[in-house]
Amino acid sequence: MQVAVDGPAGSGKSTVCKKVAINNNLMYLDTGAMYRSVAYLSLKFDRDKLLDIVEKVEFIFSDNGSKLSLSIDGMIEDVTDIIRSSEVTANASVVSADEKIRNILTAKQQIIASSNDIIMEGRDITTVVLKNADVKIFLTASVEERAKRRYAEVKGKTDKSYDEILADIIRRDDIDSNRDIAPLTKSDDSYELDTTALTLDEVICEIGKLIVEKRG
Ligand code: C5P
Repeated sequence: MQVAVDGPAGSGKSTVCKKVAINNNLMYLDTGAMYRSVAYLSLKFDRDKLLDIVEKVEFIFSDNGSKLSLSIDGMIEDVTDIIRSSEVTANASVVSADEKIRNILTAKQQIIASSNDIIMEGRDITTVVLKNADVKIFLTASVEERAKRRYAEVKGKTDKSYDEILADIIRRDDIDSNRDIAPLTKSDDSYELDTTALTLDEVICEIGKLIVEKRG
């Protein structure tokens, strides 16, 4: 069973997919965390070295996909928190426009999906990575609602105001949707779920129904 979920920043993909994974006995894969990790590595290495490292890095997800460590040449580093920093977040949209990096990460994601029942979320899962997924969902919400949710999530952990978070989301939406390679877009065969007026439980229930229908 392959469930592919795409959607813009702050649409609730991670929270929703983690829960759906548990309810339906699926592995959860957060591809954004992989792009964020590359963004983090790009702050330490020049591009040639970076490509080499991205080829060989092993992504070790644990705790239902909530934690991530990178294994490079036998050295393991927990990057769970650092990849959520503002500097890495800002850089993630930049490295993710790089075709070579996308090709390497796409191949790694497809290998993981080939041997697991999985729910994978990101920006190009329904359109590129798992084009033939059993269930394809485009999760969205108004930009104000997404900024409101993100603000509630990070309040107390950052000094960013609601307006700054809203501006960050608008900027990321723009880069992710307008890049040449694998832009964020809703494929014709994806089920669009606008979560602006839905509770978390309602969204989880809706996706659960689609999975059960498919499993028959
Ligand atoms: O989902 P998240 O916000 O953590 O993703 C961080 C960034 O990684 C996104 O803004 C996007 O630029 C990039 N990304 C991507 N393709 C994916 C997942 C994430 O380009 N499949």
